[in-house]
Amino acid sequence: MKHIAWTGTIAAAIAASAPVAAQEKPGFKDTPMLPGGQWHVHDSDRPYPATVAPGDAPGAPPSDAVVLFDGKSLDAWQAKARPWTVRDGAMTSIPPLGGRGENALVSKASFGDVQLHLEFRSPNPPLHSSQDRGNSGIWFMQRYEIQILDGYQNPTYADGTVGAIYGWKPPLVNPSRRPGEWQSYDIVFERPHFAPDGKLLRPAYITAFLNGVLVQNRQPWLGGTIWRDLGQYEAHGDAAPIQLQDHGSPVSFRNIWVRPLPETAASYDFEGTVK
Ligand code: MG
Repeated sequence: MKHIAWTGTIAAAIAASAPVAAQEKPGFKDTPMLPGGQWHVHDSDRPYPATVAPGDAPGAPPSDAVVLFDGKSLDAWQAKARPWTVRDGAMTSIPPLGGRGENALVSKASFGDVQLHLEFRSPNPPLHSSQDRGNSGIWFMQRYEIQILDGYQNPTYADGTVGAIYGWKPPLVNPSRRPGEWQSYDIVFERPHFAPDGKLLRPAYITAFLNGVLVQNRQPWLGGTIWRDLGQYEAHGDAAPIQLQDHGSPVSFRNIWVRPLPETAASYDFEGTVK
């Protein structure tokens, strides 16, 4: 049985609101048992959620966030070929010397289930068109790409526009801002699960908001991203880096933070068994 951390702050708050029962934990033990067989409805022993201080402004990192880019340091990253540029609080992708190949930026830390916030800015004036206009992408676990593109009045194939699971699911809508304006992504990524023999037990899922608008609603992934082909799963570990794509467009980023998440139960039956 777990017990709550009975802090003075919580005790004082309850004492102020219910002075007669100041020493009692609020809740019940005579209510029905919830699925899972651990807690009653309104259980007095059920642990409180941890206190997290929200960011000072919309999009700012909360107190338990891991900040991956604060506008100054690239210390949390390593570039495939050469460091991206940092200027005026933003980092910008640059191609490898000679301009051939890609110069992706890879987080030094690895993540499984994770909440991610970042802001990006497409080049202004726009360069080129379609997939060559502001192309980047967030590659969770270095395998699963949600697309970054200049999606403002930029015709391209639907499963390759901004907000798309590349090569699989177009975004629900296109809430793009104009090139040169900062745009935000808020994403929950759930990693896939594999059996010891490599068989897929549960796909990856993504929920994504672009500029505060839902573009992917717990969408299962077809598999790892492959250009011009069907996504495929190949068994991998429980955590891997986040990768930002360099696709030859000078896309800028700022305010990048993550919150590693507890594993999400796939589903419940109403006997309370986690499947
Ligand atoms: Mg891309």
